[in-house]
Amino acid sequence: MKKKLIIFTDIGDTIVDEGTEIRKVRNGVVYHADCVPEAKETLLELYKRGYTIAMVADGLVESFRNTMGENGLDHVFSAWSISEPIGVEKPNPLMFEKAMEKLGLTDEDKERIIMVGNNLSRDVLGANRFGIRSVHFCWSPRYKAQASIPEEEPTYRIYHASELLELAERLEKELEEKGE
Ligand SMILES: [Mg+2]
Repeated sequence: MKKKLIIFTDIGDTIVDEGTEIRKVRNGVVYHADCVPEAKETLLELYKRGYTIAMVADGLVESFRNTMGENGLDHVFSAWSISEPIGVEKPNPLMFEKAMEKLGLTDEDKERIIMVGNNLSRDVLGANRFGIRSVHFCWSPRYKAQASIPEEEPTYRIYHASELLELAERLEKELEEKGE
């Protein structure tokens, strides 16, 4: 059964480990990257349980096709919102708007959306300003772990990818109890 909660997710250092990326010198396209521990299993499980998942990611379309394809994750996304064709990067609201548009969502659906990402000044700030809840996936030392301004404070914080499963189930239950 389709869940009420909708999950937007970043890719770089949220789903794939940027430290393992191999790029083509010519155009910078990523053609290989390993997943962050437990991230692949978590996404597949969320998908299996009926959550709608959209990618909201900065980078080149071909990079995401390659890395999601090689990791067997391309089918879990109902929408891809990628900065290359859109022409702006997070925290620009257009990145989130595009994902909503592709999923056929309206402003009323914003309370059902969470944005998951490792980057406070892109994913978290962008989501907060856009009016959806933010989940900071705080696992990589490559990015700052503390907010510099109040707008970078995440709604939720997780330290392991698998924690997203518990969080999603909790938020789903809350949405169901609110009822509609
Ligand atoms: Mg990232």
